[in-house]
Amino acid sequence: MDPRVSHKETQTPEQEKKKRKRKKKTKQTLTHAVTHIRLIEANAGKLSALDHLMAVYLPLCQQYITLFCTEETQPSQYAAPVFASELSARLHRVAIQQAAGIAKSWRTNRQAAYETYLENLADYAEAKAKATASGKPLETGRKEPVWREWNVPQLRVPVMQANVNVVVVEPSEDSTFDYWLRIATLDKGHPLRVPVRLAAYHKKIIEGKNLNSSTTLHRRNGVWWLTLSFDTDVPIETEASAPTVGVDVGIANFLTTSTGKQYGTMHGRLRERHRRDREKRRRKAKLRACLKKKGVSSEDLPSTSSATGQRLARHVKQEINRAVNLLLHDHPDARIVYEDLSVASMRFKSKALNAYLSTSNLAHIPKQLAWATSKRGMAVHTVKAAYSSQECHCCHYPDRANRPDQATFACIVCHHRDQADHNAAANLASRFGDKELAACTNKAEVKALLLWRHEHWKQHNRLIVVEPPVQLGLWGIRSSNGRVRPVSSKSVQIEG
Ligand SMILES: [Zn+2]
Repeated sequence: MDPRVSHKETQTPEQEKKKRKRKKKTKQTLTHAVTHIRLIEANAGKLSALDHLMAVYLPLCQQYITLFCTEETQPSQYAAPVFASELSARLHRVAIQQAAGIAKSWRTNRQAAYETYLENLADYAEAKAKATASGKPLETGRKEPVWREWNVPQLRVPVMQANVNVVVVEPSEDSTFDYWLRIATLDKGHPLRVPVRLAAYHKKIIEGKNLNSSTTLHRRNGVWWLTLSFDTDVPIETEASAPTVGVDVGIANFLTTSTGKQYGTMHGRLRERHRRDREKRRRKAKLRACLKKKGVSSEDLPSTSSATGQRLARHVKQEINRAVNLLLHDHPDARIVYEDLSVASMRFKSKALNAYLSTSNLAHIPKQLAWATSKRGMAVHTVKAAYSSQECHCCHYPDRANRPDQATFACIVCHHRDQADHNAAANLASRFGDKELAACTNKAEVKALLLWRHEHWKQHNRLIVVEPPVQLGLWGIRSSNGRVRPVSSKSVQIEG
């Protein structure tokens, strides 16, 4: 009898869960999307059946999105149909599933943004109370945070995230095509069969892989496109003893590592292009408003989306990918740790800065980090971001005032000075494996923990100062450049 089998039976669900978790870490599953497969119009008008289907599908999907985003109940892909539709039950289900997926991520992002707002509001109230008590005015320009309710997502591009129940990919017997796509339509029992021809590079990617049963169909500029996908398992190559490298994500420097390196920036060339694009958009918007006043119908108005804007967005993405690749190339054996960044909740005070933020596409950075590390079989982790840019890496003191400006970190207690992003990256690196910090459920708890650590740091340092001269050798922790080496809470506990 296999001892492992009998052992398994005696395991509690808790142990099972742990084991599964441990097992998961030895490999990562990557889903690769094969995009830009154009559907061929074999017979003129054949794809119009798809247009007709989408004309019914899209509004139904939108109805469920609105329902799932506004109702009290959580969005569910198993929700019972509530809207009448001429779609078959299977297509109707696909619409519900797609809507549930969109609504779930919208709700998560909105919730994160709302919690950040509440935390900022509490921060503000605290600062205001402090200011009132001390008789000093509040920082200039600091205003009470305002919550603006999010709009429900609107499906603009006709898109269907389909499964095998409604769209089937069949290998073609004919050599002219690679696959046949069988799509369920409004005409029940008469699926649409569309040939699919793959480009050479598509074939190369797909070769030897098992395609996933989920597919995506979308229409852009009157052309239908198919997206296929497949999974691969990549074993994690990172050694248990690998050095931990913290990565801070920002605009001025896309990536700053705890090893003191910086990769990519939004400033310089990209900022200049962003500025020109914004100018152009503003002029266009003015022209639109002017024409509208003169009674030009909205269809005839010039489009607000600009080709240069789309090019710029692509370029920013490329720059980010390049920065991530360089970083991983420089740290091939590292364990990468970055912040659990909620870009959805990031808002600046000025409109111009918000536009800059959205152009800089910060949300793409963590995505690319996760993807590029996984692809290389590197271990990657996210840690709590709260106060990582305000916490002093030496004495743990968290304070807004530690940041005299965007680029500088200057601790108001221990006078530790550093480049702000580097200080943050160092904090992120040491947060890996920090169970106490990971257990914090909100920002206030993180702050309390950091303050507690700061108190320990103070006690520890006072202890050193009052020791006899022989012990002053301990000041070796202060390096020649005047920086104090980080004192972890662990060492504080042992020595103090
Ligand atoms: Zn400090």
